[in-house]
Amino acid sequence: MKITASTRVAGVVGHPAGHSLSPVIHNAWIGAGGLDAVYLAFEPPADGFRRLIEGLRGVALGVNVTIPFKAQALALADHASEPARRAGAANLLVFRPDGSIEADNTDGVGLVRAMELAGYVADKAVLLGAGGAARGAAMALLDAGFAEVAVVNRTLERAQEIAALDPRLRALGWDQADAALESASVLVNATSLGMTGQPPLVLSLDALPRSATVVDMVYRPMRTQLLASAGRRGVKTVSGLDMLIQQAVPSFQAIFGQAPQGDVRRLCLEALGEAA
Ligand code: NAP
Repeated sequence: MKITASTRVAGVVGHPAGHSLSPVIHNAWIGAGGLDAVYLAFEPPADGFRRLIEGLRGVALGVNVTIPFKAQALALADHASEPARRAGAANLLVFRPDGSIEADNTDGVGLVRAMELAGYVADKAVLLGAGGAARGAAMALLDAGFAEVAVVNRTLERAQEIAALDPRLRALGWDQADAALESASVLVNATSLGMTGQPPLVLSLDALPRSATVVDMVYRPMRTQLLASAGRRGVKTVSGLDMLIQQAVPSFQAIFGQAPQGDVRRLCLEALGEAA
């Protein structure tokens, strides 16, 4: 990659951002597409998101946004897509040449696209978590044709806030998860449980039908305990890495104006220290 005065800049903004796989993914696609661009990781202080975005506005091409800035990203934008508005969060800001900022949220489409690649039945979903990722996922699952999504969360009030958005969503406490699993065609973990440094996700999959698909949004480690249990039960699995790559596809298209080329999974596995 040759960086010159004409090289365009894009990146990911988070705190922390140093662990992000987005630079690995996007720089590989930049190279494959022969683009004169570079994709960096920006880690502003917790109160520095607005300053950074105002500095990049009209200068950079766009940024992906991760924890903890997704809600702020939506608030800063001049225009927001329906998925971003409904999720109450943006994971993508595109800087237009006129200085305006367009917000989108590609997490939901990334989730469903990753599920499509593994195969799933759009019937009833159990969604663990009620944070930003869960909110976007709930809406994406409804858009994908699910008749019902049970939102299971430690803090019931947060699940109830999501359930209030659509009659096909219902809020459950953690102790009701087992019963909900009995009729689930898809289980999605959208909590941070099971992530390196976080408590494990303790959930029996005994009640889950063997025809179901299990998705874990967590990708550090890539082979989570949940996916290991799902594999032992013989159900289809979708890793957080699969979702991450699929959410990056429309982000790249929006930032660079062309479809990405090339398989980046092996590069991501190397960056995660996992065998391909
Ligand atoms: P968030 O807004 O902080 O939400 C965290 C969720 O985890 C909440 O529902 C929270 O429950 C729950 N939780 C945290 N600690 C818990 C514990 N000890 N016991 C029970 N529940 C607990 O985070 P987020 O942005 O939604 O992200 C959630 C996960 O999705 C993260 O691991 C993130 O990395 C991952 N993610 C992956 C992708 C991808 O492309 N693979 C994309 C987006 C997000 P309470 O409401 O009770 O606190």
